[in-house]
Amino acid sequence: MTTETHKETLGFQAEIQQLLKLMIHSLYSNKEIFLRELISNASDAADKLRFEALTDNALYEGDSDLKISVSFDKENRTVTVTDNGIGMNRNEVMENVGTIAKSGTRQFFESLTGDQAKDARMIGQFGVGFYSAFIVADKVTLTTRRAGLGAEHGVRWESGGEGTYTLETVDKPARGTEVVLHLRSDEDEFLDGHRLRHIIHKYSDHIPLPIVMKAQDKDENETVNRASALWARPKKEISNEEYTEFYKHVSHDFEEPLAHVHSRVEGNQSYTTLFYVPKRAPFDLWDRDGRHGIKLYVRRVFIMDDAEQLMPNYLRFVRGVADSDDLPLNVSREILQRNKQIDTIRAASVKKVLGLLEELAKNDKEKYATFWKEFGRVLKEGPAEDYAHRERIAKLLRFASTHDDTDAQDVALEDYIARMKEGQGKIYYITADSFAAAKHSPHLEIFRKKGIEVLLLSDRVDEWLMGHFTEFEGKPLQSIAKGDLGLEALEDQEEKQELEKAADELKDLTVKMKEALGDKVKTVRVSHRLTRSPSCLVVEEHDMAVSMQKLLKAAGHAVPNVAPSLEINPQHPLVMRLNDESDAQRFTDWTHILFDQALLNEGGQLDDPSAFVQRLNELLVTLSK
Ligand code: ADP
Ligand code: MG
Repeated sequence: MTTETHKETLGFQAEIQQLLKLMIHSLYSNKEIFLRELISNASDAADKLRFEALTDNALYEGDSDLKISVSFDKENRTVTVTDNGIGMNRNEVMENVGTIAKSGTRQFFESLTGDQAKDARMIGQFGVGFYSAFIVADKVTLTTRRAGLGAEHGVRWESGGEGTYTLETVDKPARGTEVVLHLRSDEDEFLDGHRLRHIIHKYSDHIPLPIVMKAQDKDENETVNRASALWARPKKEISNEEYTEFYKHVSHDFEEPLAHVHSRVEGNQSYTTLFYVPKRAPFDLWDRDGRHGIKLYVRRVFIMDDAEQLMPNYLRFVRGVADSDDLPLNVSREILQRNKQIDTIRAASVKKVLGLLEELAKNDKEKYATFWKEFGRVLKEGPAEDYAHRERIAKLLRFASTHDDTDAQDVALEDYIARMKEGQGKIYYITADSFAAAKHSPHLEIFRKKGIEVLLLSDRVDEWLMGHFTEFEGKPLQSIAKGDLGLEALEDQEEKQELEKAADELKDLTVKMKEALGDKVKTVRVSHRLTRSPSCLVVEEHDMAVSMQKLLKAAGHAVPNVAPSLEINPQHPLVMRLNDESDAQRFTDWTHILFDQALLNEGGQLDDPSAFVQRLNELLVTLSK
């Protein structure tokens, strides 16, 4: 390797410009948080070094006394944050502070509206702390060297935040990262020891490493923060503000959390957990490679980020820490996967989080509604994933229903049961592609007539949920698009006889219709479900709902073709006319129209849409003659 400095100028990823603008706009009123973000990064860098040093002690280079230092220089108008953490090599610098490597970046930028005020509110969710330096600085110089590399492998990154940055190879004897902020002309307030100390107290007291500054009027360093693990302190000594600031650090979120639960278990095994539920879903919630899980510590020593083993998938929105007194310091991800102590902590963690959600649902309906809006679709994965807690999770589920006919998912199964009719033995629901399709489904007609509530499900995950969730408190859950509805007890004699009579009278009609439709249907029969629509499709109890078939097909699965049954409404004028139709061709056309309409209502796709349109047009012409 030569000693040339290898300086180059590189362009930021296009989005970063946009991001910087938004960031400055949205955070200017709270600009002091730049320091919190730089300290948070320095602390993460120390954690990473500790983790890597578990298997390679040489990375400490003889100095395992990890700390962060903050200083300022009045003359040169700079503020500097230095750490002796893991540092970065040239590639890492390019990846981490030249691009946004986060999953979900593209979706984030696509979701921006162009309205600065609105978009600015979203920036915190995206969490790109480093760039907050540009709120107060018009030039940032980051010099870093990765632990374990020689002094000549230092890298200097410098940028004015205006579209490009330079990269240069430099000598850096001290491992770690130094970030120098060249303050904008009106930001002199930060060239003040009192002010900086105050900011550190306010936002970074919980950082477990010492944050040192030069003592006032003396030439020695002093530790400014409390420098102890927040979760290890007694609950009653921790203020809400402290919990909040700690949350922002562990979650990389800029907003307050929705709720937290902090607990200590002493006994056979001892551990502390501190979990948070965020207020807003992060952008990578649906990304399998996104940042999930929580931080694992052993006796206050950071072990790893994103310890997925500690939380099941359906609680992947939870952030926070678990600190075990008993695990060995050298645990690896592999060991975690089959470790009894981890299993114990995980089981207790699930109970803690479910307990927290139950408490919110009971005591703070508004917060619970926020939670549900952001994470309800994730929690719906629970009954399938966690059989043991199925009932507990089920009580936390919320649905839209015909009770108020709005798309707000706010009906608990317990509310539903409390409103059930005399003689109603089942919990009824319908699944559809959209709320509107569910709400207007012909299957609902009989239920509306009888005043029986039906849950309206239209999230993608709902089919999956209902496939794994067949009863609640002894009451079967019944899709109203399937087989036998079990409404007998709610039917009156008169209705029953009328229906039987109609079925009898229309026997020939249903036989002829079945002939016309062939394999498309299993049977054609007279319906007791319909009041306004002429027809609907019904599948047998154990067959797959039409919407589920569609979902699986879309996901590329081979789906067995199960023909539904066509049910017709004996009172509908179209059906009555069809019964009198003598022209064979017209009879076939109209029958197909009734079938196709019913399929469309289910969100199904027509095999031959143009045939449908042609038949419909012919029918319209006939009627208008
Ligand atoms: P986040 O902290 O949420 O990942 P940031 O924008 O704050 O986002 O930082 C981006 C990345 O830059 C970090 O993930 C880290 O890899 C790297 N980085 C920033 N500061 C440091 C530092 N002091 N030491 C090592 N790496 C750092
Ligand atoms: Mg950060």
